[in-house]
Amino acid sequence: MAKIILFGAPGSGKGTLASRIVEVESNIVHISTGDIFRENISKKTPLGLKAKGFTDKGELVPDELVIDMVRERMEREDVKENGFILDGFPRTLPQAQKLGEFASADVVLLLDVPKDILLKRILGRYSCPNCGQIYNKWLNKPKKEDICDKCGKKMEITQRADDNEETVKRRIEVYEENSAPILKFYEDLGLLKRVDSINTLELSGQEIKRLISPVK
Ligand code: ADP
Ligand code: ZN
Repeated sequence: MAKIILFGAPGSGKGTLASRIVEVESNIVHISTGDIFRENISKKTPLGLKAKGFTDKGELVPDELVIDMVRERMEREDVKENGFILDGFPRTLPQAQKLGEFASADVVLLLDVPKDILLKRILGRYSCPNCGQIYNKWLNKPKKEDICDKCGKKMEITQRADDNEETVKRRIEVYEENSAPILKFYEDLGLLKRVDSINTLELSGQEIKRLISPVK
């Protein structure tokens, strides 16, 4: 059972790597805080209504909202049985410290990508509304323009509300403001592994296995 944290700037490819890991570790639970917020926002839940003002501007949702949400998700049976991939959490040092109180990871994968590539990835990014598969209009199109490679359904292109240039720049700034202490925290725990994430789509199953194996 693997317990993995994915860490990296917006556009560094956390979601894409997560879907590769799910192919190798079939029952592992992918927990994307961004996805959970987007779902709550589209359903207009109380949590969604509180979060929207922050996500729309590219600001972080306050720690107490995020931490309770993640804790609740991590306490479910499927996570206990099959492990987890945390994608988008922790994003602040207090989140990392709190997480340590209710879950322990085997490995923290740092996706380190140059800033110019981040922008191109995010601004071109879209996903299949049916299965969530991620594409990029410049870098990674489906084989047939409007048919999803993964689920075979016809796709209307849906871009995220916060994938516009102004918000993206702010999200990258927010990452730069918060990431150093989190990386130090995990480096000190001996959990940090750097990933050359330019080509994670090309990694073989074997290579993914090696990547997610515990550091110690
Ligand atoms: P990104 O592409 O910027 O990594 P995500 O899909 O992970 O985006 O998150 C989208 C938005 O949801 C963030 O900009 C932020 O407002 C909010 N969010 C997601 N995870 C967290 C978190 N751990 N702490 C605070 N806010 C978060
Ligand atoms: Zn699809």
